[in-house]
Amino acid sequence: MGFQRGTNLKVDLHCHTTASDGALSPTELVDRAAAAGVNLLAITDHDTVKGVAEAQLCAKKYDITIIPGIELSCRWANKQDVHMVGLGVDPLNPKFIERLATQELTRQERGRKIVEKLNRLGFEGADEWLAQRGIITPGRPHFAKFLIEKGAVSKDSEAFKKYLAIGKPAYVPTEWCSIETGVKWIAEAGGVAVIAHPGKYKMTHTKLRRLVECFASVGGHAIEVISGSTNRDVVNRIAALAMDYGLKASVGSDFHRPGEVWQELGKTGTLPSTCDAIWDRWVLAIE
Ligand code: AMP
Ligand code: MN
Ligand code: MN
Ligand code: MN
Repeated sequence: MGFQRGTNLKVDLHCHTTASDGALSPTELVDRAAAAGVNLLAITDHDTVKGVAEAQLCAKKYDITIIPGIELSCRWANKQDVHMVGLGVDPLNPKFIERLATQELTRQERGRKIVEKLNRLGFEGADEWLAQRGIITPGRPHFAKFLIEKGAVSKDSEAFKKYLAIGKPAYVPTEWCSIETGVKWIAEAGGVAVIAHPGKYKMTHTKLRRLVECFASVGGHAIEVISGSTNRDVVNRIAALAMDYGLKASVGSDFHRPGEVWQELGKTGTLPSTCDAIWDRWVLAIE
């Protein structure tokens, strides 16, 4: 063990920039993290590491260590979307970059299908809307913003509830990489795989246990015991799962934009004492 929990360490191992569906550029994000007192920060954009270099450059101004990361979109058992964070990946690893390019193509193809569905629903022009903003690889939050600007809905959550969430008219099932493949890609890029925000999946606890079992059996390393301001009962249940399957614990805000107070940078709470923190390795490295 390299440090006492609760010293001057403030950890946030999950957040987004304009490299995916976040509102802040990597520089703006690091500035905000610094202001919040974060000193160990992982940049984990959806299916891309393109924001990492700029964040590392900006972090030189502060006492912040950046962990290069990713949030991979995965498909479990061919039917359930699951997000997997990779921490400590090498953003310059050519094989990893090649693999991420296939996810990027998958995302672009899905984007075109969402545009078509929205057109058919009478919300035309999403393709021009994206092009005008220079968005080549869209995420669903971009479409949510489009729907708000069209006046179809008044907020993001409504756009998901009415159109973009699974089973809704503009949802497109997508063949992301499998859990096994995601773990392999992350490991071969030098990182460790973490199940993202397990409390957010619409599945029973029994099903979540099966997911964790599958993830652990293919070499998955950790699970986000705390994601944003997660309810304490959920935190304790995930901590128990981590214990059962020998997984380390991660914490992350899943910050996307200012104003969403339940996922603000650095707001990651305290792990239950039974947890074994994933970040020890980086803390040892910077001490
Ligand atoms: P995508 O990666 O394109 O499938 O989009 C997933 C992203 O959409 C998540 O990372 C969140 O940023 C956002 N999201 C998912 N569900 C909701 C929701 N119900 N309300 C608002 N944003 C959501
Ligand atoms: Mn997102
Ligand atoms: Mn996610
Ligand atoms: Mn995320």
